[in-house]
Amino acid sequence: MAVQSLYRKWRSQTFAELVGQEHVVQTLRNAIAEDRVGHAYLFTGPRGVGKTTMARLLAKAVNCLHPDPAARPCGTCEMCTAIAEGRAVDVIEMDAASHTSVEDAREIIERVQFRPSVARMKVYIIDETHMLSTAAFNALLKTLEEPPDHALFILATTEVHKVPATILSRCQRFTFVRHSVTSMAAHLRRIAAAEGIALADGAPEAIARAATGSMRDALGILEQLASFVEGPITLHHVQSLLGMTAAAEVDALIAALLAADLTAALRAVNAVANQGADLRQFARDLVERLRAVMLLKATGDRTLLDLGDDEAAQLAQWAQQAEMAALVQWVKLFSNLDYQLRTTPYGHLPLEVAVVEALLAPAPVAQPVAPRPQPARPQPAAPAVAPRPQPVVPAEPPRPQPVVPAEPPRPQPVVPAPADPSLVTPSLPPEPSASAPAPVADPPPPPPAAWAAAQQARPPADPAVARAADAELSLLEQLEATWEDFKRDVRPRSPTVQALLNSARPYDVEGNTIVLLVSSSFHKERLEEPKNRAIIEEVLRRRLGKVYAVRCTIEEKSVEPTDLRGKIREARKDELVRAALNIFDAQIVDIEPLEPE
Ligand SMILES: [Zn+2]
Repeated sequence: MAVQSLYRKWRSQTFAELVGQEHVVQTLRNAIAEDRVGHAYLFTGPRGVGKTTMARLLAKAVNCLHPDPAARPCGTCEMCTAIAEGRAVDVIEMDAASHTSVEDAREIIERVQFRPSVARMKVYIIDETHMLSTAAFNALLKTLEEPPDHALFILATTEVHKVPATILSRCQRFTFVRHSVTSMAAHLRRIAAAEGIALADGAPEAIARAATGSMRDALGILEQLASFVEGPITLHHVQSLLGMTAAAEVDALIAALLAADLTAALRAVNAVANQGADLRQFARDLVERLRAVMLLKATGDRTLLDLGDDEAAQLAQWAQQAEMAALVQWVKLFSNLDYQLRTTPYGHLPLEVAVVEALLAPAPVAQPVAPRPQPARPQPAAPAVAPRPQPVVPAEPPRPQPVVPAEPPRPQPVVPAPADPSLVTPSLPPEPSASAPAPVADPPPPPPAAWAAAQQARPPADPAVARAADAELSLLEQLEATWEDFKRDVRPRSPTVQALLNSARPYDVEGNTIVLLVSSSFHKERLEEPKNRAIIEEVLRRRLGKVYAVRCTIEEKSVEPTDLRGKIREARKDELVRAALNIFDAQIVDIEPLEPE
């Protein structure tokens, strides 16, 4: 390897060679071609993303001797090479961080008034501009207010908020973004090829990831690797240089966790241990990866994570497959391992225990529509409507003023009175009454057959079962009412799945499973393909705030007239019952037959 560092050697000499920052390149190129370069530019962005490189390109471009402005900087003329080699007297590079003495920076800036000695433009490249002293800023400001025609200031900073607003307002500002893993990996491959360095699959991405967006760091790592590796640089080389553990084992473990495959999970842990890898680092890499899956699942936003194309697809698939509660549990479980792994005398045992725990103790699933534990009040009403705990007292009519002699008369308590107490009186029939307006003073008696059937259904239902059924049916109604919205939410993820759903409708809720009735076995098979089902379940989870599984059926169940569930379903369709449920925010806890009069 040559003495010259790769970064310096491969620093872009023309705009065409520059990697990334296309938006900046395009704007500057146009300005040069049309001869309307300004007097002050401010480049902001993280370190190592090409701000100084771009500044030099601009310095060259305004001084390049190539006859065609659109071809500047040519990278080969006398001016271009002099600037590239740092011997152009009219291009002044200063690092504000090291020119902190007041006079120094200020004097340098004030010298801009003298004409350039050779070049067309006198260019000041001020790195870490935010570090300039107040005096230097003042000198700069004065210059920028009336810049000489021959002056070009290019300011670069990683901390733009520390640059005074008076300066900012006089600069054309460009924001530099971090290099993506993909573009850095591609650039590394190009340079490696030109340098005769062989890079195995996965190695450039691993280097890029470790360099966290800085091309300078990435080339530094490549240079180090090239200096000690004989033959092709593999992923393993990169990982051992950087203390990374086998990504393949991390991925194998996550895949095993998601598949709930304990054997495969323990095999992955043991493979890592047998390699003599750093187990703490392995646990950290695992947590970092699970975190990425969690973020992706929570937001669906890839841009939150800097992913190479090689891993984006994998993570997206995992995110669809995983349950959020499990991800959270695993992240917590494995992030607690660091200390244990450091102090344990038992090698990788804590990791094994954590893996077993992760798979044997499934994460609790939140139950926003859990059945309420309160006992059913013995009520003669059919259906019995149990109020949810809130300051509504449905059973009682509006009360008169309390008769408490010791106290002064109080205003009537502001308890929202039930619209009509007769709604929950025994006069309500179990059969859906034909749109009878409320209140029903004297409803017709139920048909004897229905009553007899209802009688057979005694003894009264377990209130917990009834409540659960009622909650499920309530959810089913919600799904039916919002089915079109649901399909619309599916569309951006998969138009195919949305099309399939056009032949489906919500049919039942069984605990944590939502049953769809579909028109053919073809639709059932397609919709139940894991990737399609994952899309449906993900949209359901987003809309309902809870994890539900989905299954499809092509057969309609025959609803037994004595079936409690069927009766609740029917009762929920009754206008009066609906009104009662809505007014009291109530649940059906039982259906009782009416005594024939
Ligand atoms: Zn040139």
